[in-house]
Amino acid sequence: MHSLINVSHSGDSETSHAFCLAQLTRVTGIVQGVGFRPFVFRIAQAYDVRGWVLNDSAGVHIHSEGTSRSLSMFLRDLRQLAPPAAVIDGIDSAATTFVGFDDFRIVDSIVGTDTTAGISPDLAVCDDCLAELFDDRDARAQYVYINCTSCGPRYSIVIGLPYDRSRTTMSDWEMCAKCASDYRNVSGRRFHAQPISCGECGPQYLLRYGSSSDQRGLAAIRSAAALLSDGKIVAIKGIGGYHLACNADSADAVKALRERKFRKDRPFAMMVADMQTARRTVSLSPEAEELLSAVARPVLVAPALVVLDDVAPGTSELGVMLPYAPLHYLLFANGAPERLVMTSANRSAEPIAYRDEDAFDRLSSIADAFLVGERPIARRVDDSVVRLGAAGPMMLRRSRGYAPGPVARIPVTRPVLALGADLKNTITLVVNGIAIMSQHIGDLENHSARQASAKQ
Ligand SMILES: [Zn+2]
Ligand SMILES: [Zn+2]
Repeated sequence: MHSLINVSHSGDSETSHAFCLAQLTRVTGIVQGVGFRPFVFRIAQAYDVRGWVLNDSAGVHIHSEGTSRSLSMFLRDLRQLAPPAAVIDGIDSAATTFVGFDDFRIVDSIVGTDTTAGISPDLAVCDDCLAELFDDRDARAQYVYINCTSCGPRYSIVIGLPYDRSRTTMSDWEMCAKCASDYRNVSGRRFHAQPISCGECGPQYLLRYGSSSDQRGLAAIRSAAALLSDGKIVAIKGIGGYHLACNADSADAVKALRERKFRKDRPFAMMVADMQTARRTVSLSPEAEELLSAVARPVLVAPALVVLDDVAPGTSELGVMLPYAPLHYLLFANGAPERLVMTSANRSAEPIAYRDEDAFDRLSSIADAFLVGERPIARRVDDSVVRLGAAGPMMLRRSRGYAPGPVARIPVTRPVLALGADLKNTITLVVNGIAIMSQHIGDLENHSARQASAKQ
């Protein structure tokens, strides 16, 4: 990690406050889509620093003006107090010409061609949004796509960089007055939250079931939960693709899923309602609980405490994950069984389905119903799978919640592309010495997996 800080000081600290200085700062790493510009705005206000901040194709660019003292405190906070989801690779500052700005602003992004900015992985819904989700007095109560600058989809909705709403799959939805005001409110949690929306203005979920006309919103989610309780198989659109879900405690439902999916005995992953249910299902150390509830929300493979023969035949382990999208919490709160099989929606070795029409085509012989989210998914991102070994967490499948975070620094100046293996393929690109690994793509003997790989 290099953190190159060259703060320009003019004069000694006793007298320099009288001079107004200017500096240009470039911040690189995962700094878009993690509340970084609002954070810069707030620390600029705290120290009466003027100028601007913007996103460009390389990261975040800041022009700051103030006294020597205020600028050095501004830079200190920039390094030390960055939002939790930010991963800073470098902060480079250099003196520049003083312009005399009279305020500090977030200005429009600059779209460049030489794109190197990091994209944040998708983030599980945060505690603040969850509290609002279940607070009936809140404007976004029960709203299935609730999110803020600390949580929500990122990699799975990004179409281009810099990260702005117009370059995400949310571009078709126009904000209502309430969302627009939250988006502009500097002191709020949704200041410049690009996927911001609410029940008034945003996308919804709908349920396709047989020939009955589609239900929308909470009614759709309630009906899907009832179908799951009734032993049905429901294809559910999640963050990075569709899942096939059924009641894990119903041997009949799980057997039906195996038959229809042509999957003889490979274990299915499960989503459990909460940590209490997880503790009753698998043996968890404090470290394992931490991993299970991490913001990446991986599937954790752990020793089974219950017998669910059809879910994981012939093994003494089960793969469990906790809810991560607001939709999952709403399903459990509205009566879905506390242990759901949640397996990637595909037939046998195909990659996970993520486009609605493709999902209807490929899964209609498997799923009894479809719970479809209106927000499009930009690219497929499967669930990650981890195991806790003696030496710490072991990544069995690195995907949602982790990709496309950097995995290593490699001292090369030219870009390097590594195309991975035939089985469990991923690809890695090294740009500016930082190795960025794609999400799990799958086995390449399958034609659709090859196409998926070519699109990354
Ligand atoms: Zn949130
Ligand atoms: Zn709204």
